[in-house]
Amino acid sequence: MNRITDVHVHIQPWRDLKPNVLDVMRRGKEQHWELLIAVMDDPKVLLDVMDRSGVWRAGLVNYVSPEVMGFTESTNDFSARYAQANPDRLLPYGGVHPRVTKDPAGAVDRLLDMGIRLLKIHPPHQLFPANAYTEGLTALGQVYRRCEERGLPVMVHTGTSVFPGARSKYGNPMELDDVAIDFPDLPLVMAHGGRPLYMEEAFFILRRHQHVRLDVSGIPPAKLLEYFPRLAEIADRVLWGTDWPSPGVKDLRQNIDQFLALPLSDAHRKAILETNALALFPAR
Ligand SMILES: [Zn+2]
Repeated sequence: MNRITDVHVHIQPWRDLKPNVLDVMRRGKEQHWELLIAVMDDPKVLLDVMDRSGVWRAGLVNYVSPEVMGFTESTNDFSARYAQANPDRLLPYGGVHPRVTKDPAGAVDRLLDMGIRLLKIHPPHQLFPANAYTEGLTALGQVYRRCEERGLPVMVHTGTSVFPGARSKYGNPMELDDVAIDFPDLPLVMAHGGRPLYMEEAFFILRRHQHVRLDVSGIPPAKLLEYFPRLAEIADRVLWGTDWPSPGVKDLRQNIDQFLALPLSDAHRKAILETNALALFPAR
């Protein structure tokens, strides 16, 4: 397979990270920390890592999280600029913080003008549930609405987060039920399948809503079928992702090899690694 898309790689402006978050980020990665710093500064270094791992394209996860992570709206400029090194292979993601922006729809339009391919919502790092628009955060509903109108996919983090200040209670995938009902034409990506607490809720949402896709990043690939024993039932909506270089995720290729060792059909492997992502992010 030579058209693998990893839809979930963290290429972010680490110089903006809060010091206590940076400490957690560095933990366990001391030995290749220099390489990771180089990756964040230079897309050529990432492309080299991708070449060595047999990864064709990577989605560059970015979002605005001033309170917890330290990322401001400039993270969008970082993402767009980084991807310019190879727009065929680097898919820049960005975000709008509904409590920070004064013009939610306009901010989504600006992301599209910059070439952003997906909008990321991170409830535990942005400190609101994914359905907060049902309880007064109207700007969030306006963001979803504009993404739906413009066909911009939205990825929502589900599951826990270990960074200082992250509120994991907002990681429950059930909150995507509202979003999927209220925005029926919005391409939604559920990141991490609620790992490690909410897999039953995650699978319910995925079965109930055909326009919700599962991004398997952050789930140890060798355990994927323990987490989701009925993965084959939704294989046409499962996207490959690693969450590299988040805590515990060491190597792009190691994850692919562990995934390929699972008892899945060749058709499902190809769908998950290659073709499902091509449908969501057509080659340009
Ligand atoms: Zn992630």
